[in-house]
Amino acid sequence: MSAIQPTAIKVHRTSGTTMEISWKDGHQSTYTFTYLRDACPCATCNEERQKTGRQPDQPASSVAAPLQMFKPQMRPVEVAQAGNYAIHFTWNDGHQSGVYSWDYLRRWCPCEQCHSARHSSDGLKQDIENHPREK
Ligand SMILES: [Zn+2]
Ligand SMILES: [Zn+2]
Repeated sequence: MSAIQPTAIKVHRTSGTTMEISWKDGHQSTYTFTYLRDACPCATCNEERQKTGRQPDQPASSVAAPLQMFKPQMRPVEVAQAGNYAIHFTWNDGHQSGVYSWDYLRRWCPCEQCHSARHSSDGLKQDIENHPREK
């Protein structure tokens, strides 16, 4: 069992564009829906990211389609907890294979602190690129 557990999850599905998680250790994460969609952990999205060399915390548009300025606002049409270890989104573009485990969400927390921690450890990044985690 992982020690990484949320104490509160707020998904601003109708009135906002973010999901907020408060973690057991006091850390707070705010993810925009676009960020979450781009970081989708499913096999298909993983493969697509590997092809383009994109990390889950990089926007898809910056690598894949720099000329495509307009993207419809990503929104989950359905949010469900998967057991007590993950959250599952059905997106308004029809995609629904991503199951976001707490581990994964915390690993890719977009806050400045976690972001710079990820990018200062090149060894870890290498490891992820060379040995993608598979189920
Ligand atoms: Zn996906
Ligand atoms: Zn963080």
